[in-house]
Amino acid sequence: MILNNYYNLNSSNTNERIKTLINNLDNGLNLSKDQFLDLLNNFNYELLPYIQDLAFKKRKAVYHDSVYIRGLIEISNYCKNNCYYCGIRKNNDDLERYRYNKNEIYQIVDYAYHNGYKTIVLQGGEDDYYSDDLLIEILTYLRSNYPDLALTLSLGERSYESYYKLYQAGANRYLLRHESASAEHYSKLHPQEMKLTTRINCLNDLKTIGYQTGAGLMVGSPYQTNNDLVDDLLFLQSFQPEMIGIGPYLNHPKTPFKSFNNGDINHVLVIYALARLICPEALIPSTTATSSLASDGRYRALQSGCNVIMINLSLLDKRKNYSLYANKTYVGDESQEYLSLIKADIEKAHLKINFAVGNHITREVDNNE
Ligand code: SAH
Repeated sequence: MILNNYYNLNSSNTNERIKTLINNLDNGLNLSKDQFLDLLNNFNYELLPYIQDLAFKKRKAVYHDSVYIRGLIEISNYCKNNCYYCGIRKNNDDLERYRYNKNEIYQIVDYAYHNGYKTIVLQGGEDDYYSDDLLIEILTYLRSNYPDLALTLSLGERSYESYYKLYQAGANRYLLRHESASAEHYSKLHPQEMKLTTRINCLNDLKTIGYQTGAGLMVGSPYQTNNDLVDDLLFLQSFQPEMIGIGPYLNHPKTPFKSFNNGDINHVLVIYALARLICPEALIPSTTATSSLASDGRYRALQSGCNVIMINLSLLDKRKNYSLYANKTYVGDESQEYLSLIKADIEKAHLKINFAVGNHITREVDNNE
């Protein structure tokens, strides 16, 4: 149970104390563990507009009005892992599995490129089909044919050597959510063979190699407490990822967590705004999970400091099988066909759609371009 005071009234003293903590973050100060815990334990709905306003301004100071667009290709729903929350986990046998071969990937990327996309994200389960050799071949082909395209991978945990070779072959960015920075909570979300230390080592490797590196978490995942979220916020504060993927936990009926409730949209917005204040320069997408949870989720996420939207470019007949959670907005929203809806949300939030490559502000010229 997180943000358990969200729907209660605070005394004005409490609200003033929490505002001071928020102002400290806004002024670039770090908060301690106790201060973050105070903030989360006492955050209530009256404070949401306050923190959203600061997060909105902070994003504007760094990235102006731009909301960057990425093209997402879900290349495989095969996965060797058994994360308890995830619908494409290995032991879900009620799922039609698919993967794209290199030519199918090239076709989609070519379509994306000619429709103006400057960042392509290749995401999938941990699927051994995508050996280093195959990925190097794919990256080398894409890098040489589309030199101005940013290539982002999101293919889970791999060795330092593998990440290094893929970077050499032309990958620029890597998304690997840490999922939970509390070892105890991490172990409740994953089977024993998956360890937080491995995940964090991977993130450190990616940063060392030179990738723009993305961490992130689900808000309201089973067993999550404010103490766990404090660990996540402290991790973001110290690691300073270039990208931060945040969305609500969403129930999937074919997982061991089938009886747990979805995360709360308001809680997600609070964490977006906190992430923006903690990492002012981060690229923070309004994620598909957020749009799936609430019809106005994307608009409200943009009001809370988000500055990226990932558009699903996977083939329609495959999209339904990349079911990380139930009721994913896979057919219409967040897909190429619905670009105009996305544009309308961006404009409603007084922001501008931007198809530029959209590197992290410190990497305006990325080594790999
Ligand atoms: N295999 C890759 C990509 C995983 S899918 C990797 O390990 O990074 C991308 C993200 O979807 C995951 O990191 C996870 O945070 C999120 N996700 C998975 N199941 C979910 C669920 N039930 N609800 C919300 N988000 C989920």
